[in-house]
Amino acid sequence: MIEFKQISHQYGHVPSVQNIDFTVNSHEVVGLLGPSGCGKSTILRLAAGLETPSAGEIWLNGAKIADATSTMRPEDRGIGMVFQDYALFPHMNIMDNILFALNSHNNANLSSVIRHQMALDALEQTHLTDYRDALPHQLSGGQQQRVALARALAPNPGLILLDEPFSGLDNRLKEQIRDDMLHVLHEIGTAVLIVTHDSEEAMFMADRLMVMENGSIIQTGAPVDVFCRPDNAFVAEFFGEVNRFETSVTSGMADTPFGLFPVENIDDTDNAIMIIRNDGLIIDPRGETADAVVVETIMLGRYSIVHLELYWERIGAMHIHARVPGITWYDEGTEVSIKLDSSQVFVFSQQG
Ligand code: ADP
Ligand code: MG
Repeated sequence: MIEFKQISHQYGHVPSVQNIDFTVNSHEVVGLLGPSGCGKSTILRLAAGLETPSAGEIWLNGAKIADATSTMRPEDRGIGMVFQDYALFPHMNIMDNILFALNSHNNANLSSVIRHQMALDALEQTHLTDYRDALPHQLSGGQQQRVALARALAPNPGLILLDEPFSGLDNRLKEQIRDDMLHVLHEIGTAVLIVTHDSEEAMFMADRLMVMENGSIIQTGAPVDVFCRPDNAFVAEFFGEVNRFETSVTSGMADTPFGLFPVENIDDTDNAIMIIRNDGLIIDPRGETADAVVVETIMLGRYSIVHLELYWERIGAMHIHARVPGITWYDEGTEVSIKLDSSQVFVFSQQG
């Protein structure tokens, strides 16, 4: 469907993304995940034709659409884009906003009757038929977002690009709207590339994830595989809060404050990094060892965060965070024993 081959780009002389290689196929939702400034929007803008690569090639449906010397115009690509701020025309009603998207010159051969029908189809797909005469400001944030999606879908694009499409919505609505949008996208079955900095959102929406750091894609895979088998500390740390320790590995065993932890494929080193997700620390207040002392408990409803202090000869006094399910409370000063959930512990050897 769309394929990036060794794409690099720069803004002026400042590099933004390097050696980007990926494919998005039809019926596939691919999530581009990374922190702010890592180059996610630039990749969407390159796909849409709003930026030109400095090296590499972009292919769409078996034809080259961009390289460093020539680039197909955005309106000729048949790609729909939903921006962060929706970019609706405030003075046009919903129907006219969508018709506007169908008026580009490559739809010039379509009669106004057909365009009208395509706009109605897009409204129906996004459950907005009743709002065709409304102005954007009369709709909720979630509805406006669906209008932006309807406008992107109306020309039947081969690929839809979504740039942080939920960031303008309040948290309460977000989950519902995310769910609605996913159903619409699955029904349509077109290829989708969605950008987000929110790992949970990426896992929810995407069939496949591409994690970015500093202008490069550093890991690609099914969401659950990336979550369970991160290739490096950056990826491991991207899925929620973690505890990070420097440690050593000897004969396949990493030293931890809670005893030796078996690791695979790491040669002996004094320069390893261990990541323990907050929910990888299992607290047992009646355990036999006194591994740590509770500093405070913060209850957040669906889970609680327990702040703990422990002493590890290697480092000295340490402050760590454990995430425990539900409403749980440990008094300050409680001595607890700690076990590791090995599926939430990752050890990487550091270069240099
Ligand atoms: P993201 O979407 O992941 O936050 P962007 O693709 O927007 O990242 O930006 C990647 C890098 O390019 C950042 O360092 C950003 O500051 C820079 N950048 C983005 N847009 C421009 C621009 N129009 N001119 C110059 N630099 C830009
Ligand atoms: Mg961006």
